[in-house]
Amino acid sequence: MKKASIVSIGNELLNGQTIDTNTTYLSGELLSIGIPVVSSFTIGDDVDAIVRTFNLAVADADIVMVTGGLGPTDDDLTRQAFAGYLGTELQLQADLLDRLENYFKKRNLQMSEKNKIQAYIPTGTKPIENSLGTAPGIMAQVKGKLIFAFPGVPSEMKRMFAVSVFPELQQFSGEQAVVVRKLRCFGAGESKIAELLGDACQRGRNPLVNCTVEYGIITLHIIATSRNKDTARQMVEKEEKTIRNTLGELVYGTAEQSLAEVVGEKLARQGKTIAVAESCTGGIVAGLLTDIPGASKYFTHGWITYSNAAKIRELAVAADLIEKYGAVSEQVAQAMAFNARNKARTDYAIGITGIAGPDGGTEQKPVGVVYISVDFDNGCDTKRCIFSHGRRSIRFRAAQTSLNMLRLRLNI
Ligand code: AMP
Ligand code: MG
Repeated sequence: MKKASIVSIGNELLNGQTIDTNTTYLSGELLSIGIPVVSSFTIGDDVDAIVRTFNLAVADADIVMVTGGLGPTDDDLTRQAFAGYLGTELQLQADLLDRLENYFKKRNLQMSEKNKIQAYIPTGTKPIENSLGTAPGIMAQVKGKLIFAFPGVPSEMKRMFAVSVFPELQQFSGEQAVVVRKLRCFGAGESKIAELLGDACQRGRNPLVNCTVEYGIITLHIIATSRNKDTARQMVEKEEKTIRNTLGELVYGTAEQSLAEVVGEKLARQGKTIAVAESCTGGIVAGLLTDIPGASKYFTHGWITYSNAAKIRELAVAADLIEKYGAVSEQVAQAMAFNARNKARTDYAIGITGIAGPDGGTEQKPVGVVYISVDFDNGCDTKRCIFSHGRRSIRFRAAQTSLNMLRLRLNI
C-alpha cells in the first residue's frame, strides 16, 4: 500500500495565528483513494528545517505533500529549500514568467519585481498550474517517490490538488481500492449512536466505521478497503443500508450536506414555505437557511426579536404571556412561531427563545435552556433543550436543533 506524509510550512502555523486546515483536507482526500497519511510535520519558514523535514517525510512515505511558503515575499522559502533538498538550483521558466506577467496585465496591475521569484522552480522539477493565484506548485519525482509542493492558501491548494494531482494519484494508488462514504446524523449524542451501532464501530473491521462530531452533527465515515473498487463500493453500500436501518431518522444526509440544505430541499420539493422568529439565536437560523442557493423558493421572513418589547410589538406576543411565564418559556416560543407563521403566511414557522449565557440563568432556567417551536397548519412541536459548552455552542446547537425539528416534521 502506498503511504503519504504531509509537510505544512509557515511561521503563522507555529505561533497560533493560522489553523492548519490543509493537512486535514489532504489527509481526507488521500485516504479516500487508499493512501493513508502516516506522518505530518509542521515547521516554520526556515530553509534548513524544511530540508531536514523533507528527508524525514520521504523516509516515511511514497508521496509527500507540502503546503505553504511559495509566496513572493522574502519569508517564503519552500522553493529554495526544495532546490536545496534536491541538490539543484532554481531555474527561471520562461512560460511561468509569461503566465505571471499576463496574470497582472489582465487585472490591470503592475507586477512587482518580487513576484518574479514565482517563475523559478528547481531544475528537474515540474510546475503545477495554479488557476486561482500567482504561485505555481512544484512537483518532483525522486527515486520512485513523489513530492508535491502547493501554496498555503487553502482555496488555491485545494483546486490545484483536485485538478492536477488527485487524478494522477488515483492511478498511483494502484493495487488497493478504498471507498469512503459519509453519513450525517443529528438528534443523538456520539455515545448513543455508537451504542446503537454496536459491533459496526469495532476497530480493525472492514468496512471500518469512524465517528466525528461537531456542534451536534455526527458524521459517520464508512471506509471499505478491497483489491477491487467495485467490491469496496458494494461493501460500503451494504454497510450504509444496515446503518440507515439501525439509526432511522437520526441519519439526515450524506457527504457534506448541512441540515439547512436538507430542510431546504424538502421545503422546495413539497412547495412549502418557512419563516423564523428568533431571540437567543439572533438570526443564525435565517442565516443558515439563506446560505443555501435557491432559498428564496421557500424562505420568506425572519424576525430577530431580542427584547421583550420587540416580541410584543413586532410579533404580537401577548405581554401577559411574557409576564406570566417569562420570555424564555414554552408558551413564548410557541407564540413566536404561531404569530410569525400567521404574519408571514407561511406553511411553517420556527420560534426560538433561550438563555445563551454566560449570565442570566436561574435554577429553573439555567444557562443553555432553549425553547424551540415549529408551528404548522394543525399543530406545533415544542422542545425544551439544555445545551452547554458556552454561548457560541448553545446558540448554534439551538439553531441546528430547530432545523432538525423542521426536518422531522417535513418527513411526516
Ligand atoms: P503561503 O503559501 O506560505 O504564502 O501561505 C499563504 C497563506 O495561506 C498563509 O498566510 C495562511 O493564511 C494560509 N495557510 C498557509 N498554510 C496553511 C495551512 N496549513 N492551513 C491553512 N491555511 C494555511
Ligand atoms: Mg508563508
